[in-house]
Amino acid sequence: MDKILVIDDSAVQAEFLSSVLKHDYDITVCQTAVEGLRAAKDGGFSLILLDVIMPDMDGFTMLKELKSTELTKHIPVILLTSLADEQYEEKGLLMGAVDYVAKPFSPVIIKARVNTQIQLYHYQTEFRQQAMIDGLTGIANRRCYEGASITKWREAVRFGLPFSVCMFDIDKFKLYNDTFGHPAGDQVIANVAKTVSSYLQRSTDLFARYGGEEFVAVFVGNDGESAFSFMKTIRQAVEDLHIPHNSPASPWVTVSVGGITLVPKAGDDYNTYLKLADAMLYDAKRFGRNQVVWSNAGKEQWREKPGESK
Ligand code: GH3
Ligand code: MG
Ligand code: MG
Repeated sequence: MDKILVIDDSAVQAEFLSSVLKHDYDITVCQTAVEGLRAAKDGGFSLILLDVIMPDMDGFTMLKELKSTELTKHIPVILLTSLADEQYEEKGLLMGAVDYVAKPFSPVIIKARVNTQIQLYHYQTEFRQQAMIDGLTGIANRRCYEGASITKWREAVRFGLPFSVCMFDIDKFKLYNDTFGHPAGDQVIANVAKTVSSYLQRSTDLFARYGGEEFVAVFVGNDGESAFSFMKTIRQAVEDLHIPHNSPASPWVTVSVGGITLVPKAGDDYNTYLKLADAMLYDAKRFGRNQVVWSNAGKEQWREKPGESK
């Protein structure tokens, strides 16, 4: 059942709305704007019904706050008011309210308008999610990665957590396509993504298709050595799929992996470290492919297969 937040200082008004909507929706009522904002940020609401005139904060100020807060900006807001004034209506709509209802309103009309907005909210949520997913593999796409990696980076800075960034690239994949055909190549990309993502299932893990036959992973908490050993397991799991290939690196499809672990500080630039991870991937290719090369941000380098250089 969709959750609706009613923010109205009048208990009578709130009770009326609840009684009209409670059979179809899960209703939460807040009688002050401050309380309402807190509830909205706690999440899970598909719609907010917001009274324009309240003693602690007017609905317009609150709407501005809701629309400028990441956690609440996508929740549709219907303004409720007895101000049957065109100017207010225009102001509310321009500020991002999806609808505007003047009191007193009829139960059937408010119900119909609520239903419409809830339906639109579902379409939009679905659309937003699809826009973040790679069509071939079903994992996060580049666009999702760009936003989420920076958020995770900032969290790691704030909490002083070890942060790892890691690039994967399928070995000799041009040759694979040339040998087995592009559709078979697509299948390989999907299988590799599925295998790697099955290891990156923590809620704080991010695994995305970076482009073509390249992937990127971002995760927190592991120190350099444990991240290195974790990636060796994942690399081996891809090799163990035993997808035939005639690459010089292996009879199977394999990946090269490069990454770094560091505890980021305020002022550090994420892209500097992404470039370092990419340099480690370059080394993994250079040292013979099908291997992991890791570093703790430039101080030390761990190689999975020391000695080999091709
Ligand atoms: P290396 O081991 O150095 O990474 O060699 P490589 O052949 O994998 O590298 P290169 O960058 O030369 O070629 C990447 C190939 O990946 C070329 C391109 O056709 C293929 N590729 C990129 N995206 C896709 C895709 O979506 N589907 C398929 N089937 N192939 C793709
Ligand atoms: Mg590549
Ligand atoms: Mg490649």
